[in-house]
Amino acid sequence: MAKCSVCGETAVVCYADARRCYCGEHFIEHFESKVKRTLEKYGMVKPGELVLAAISGGKDSAALLGVMTRLSRVMGFRVAGIHIDLGIGEYSKRSREAAVRLAGQVGVPLAILDLRELTGGYGVTELARMAKRPPCSVCGMVKRYLINAAGLEACADAVALGHNADDMAVYALKSFLTQDLEAIPKLGPKTESIPQLAVGRIRPLYSVSEKEAFLYAYLLGLPVNHEECPNVDQRQLEVVLKEQVTLMESRKPGLRTQLLSKLAKRLRDYPQPEGKPEPCRHCGLISWGGECSFCRLTKRIFGKPLGPKVREYVRRKLREAGIEPCREAGSS
Ligand SMILES: [Zn+2]
Ligand SMILES: [Zn+2]
Repeated sequence: MAKCSVCGETAVVCYADARRCYCGEHFIEHFESKVKRTLEKYGMVKPGELVLAAISGGKDSAALLGVMTRLSRVMGFRVAGIHIDLGIGEYSKRSREAAVRLAGQVGVPLAILDLRELTGGYGVTELARMAKRPPCSVCGMVKRYLINAAGLEACADAVALGHNADDMAVYALKSFLTQDLEAIPKLGPKTESIPQLAVGRIRPLYSVSEKEAFLYAYLLGLPVNHEECPNVDQRQLEVVLKEQVTLMESRKPGLRTQLLSKLAKRLRDYPQPEGKPEPCRHCGLISWGGECSFCRLTKRIFGKPLGPKVREYVRRKLREAGIEPCREAGSS
């Protein structure tokens, strides 16, 4: 049986590329120092800053909240959580329960935004059906919109997303295969804030694999909903690419990390979005062309955009969770 390279105890994990093995305790240490290096390398967070972590209830978000909470103590930043209840039946119910237990366990305030409360009872699947759009694209847009709104209203310095290295490699390959090159600049470890319009996003798990995130959450005993979203179609390109990335990594260990660190250096070489971001005429949040996607979608479905009522709703939910909303953002 393999032994931990640090202490000689029985190992729980071995790395093929660097021929190292770790016991549980030293794997946790290794994982946390890896994420700390990512935070430092890409200048993701400074002492005193507030990071709002997006918590879906799945394993990556558990690892994200766990590691960020522990690192916040040594690095001196603050962490709060945000969960979006997308109203996808039992799946959302169990995801929400996992998120609540997780935040309680690590001792971080968690605000919950419930899409059905905002739409008068419609979850993301119904909204997608009414708009005749694929559920995953509506879901992604709604999450981005609400997380950004929460980040702005909380005056967070950054929103932290739980994407791991496998996810990012899949997105990068997908953008390349479909030649959606404009999507690539958004795939870096960090995007900058745009004052009043958008909160910068950071991806602290940018350098860790899905397997590592899973093992970390497991070893810390963090609550996780392991179900997959019922809207995920197994034929989707992402699902196919995920299998390919796993295969590629097993044959060429380290290739995924190389791809991502090289990509992070070259984000500016890819086509940037045309035009300038401007405030949505309905809700004041970021838009390209004067109307944000959330307002456009909800206007199409309900006859009037729901964006304007989101900000007050978000402030109320933040306050209920004990996360004090800031003044500047809400008054714009
Ligand atoms: Zn050890
Ligand atoms: Zn809007």
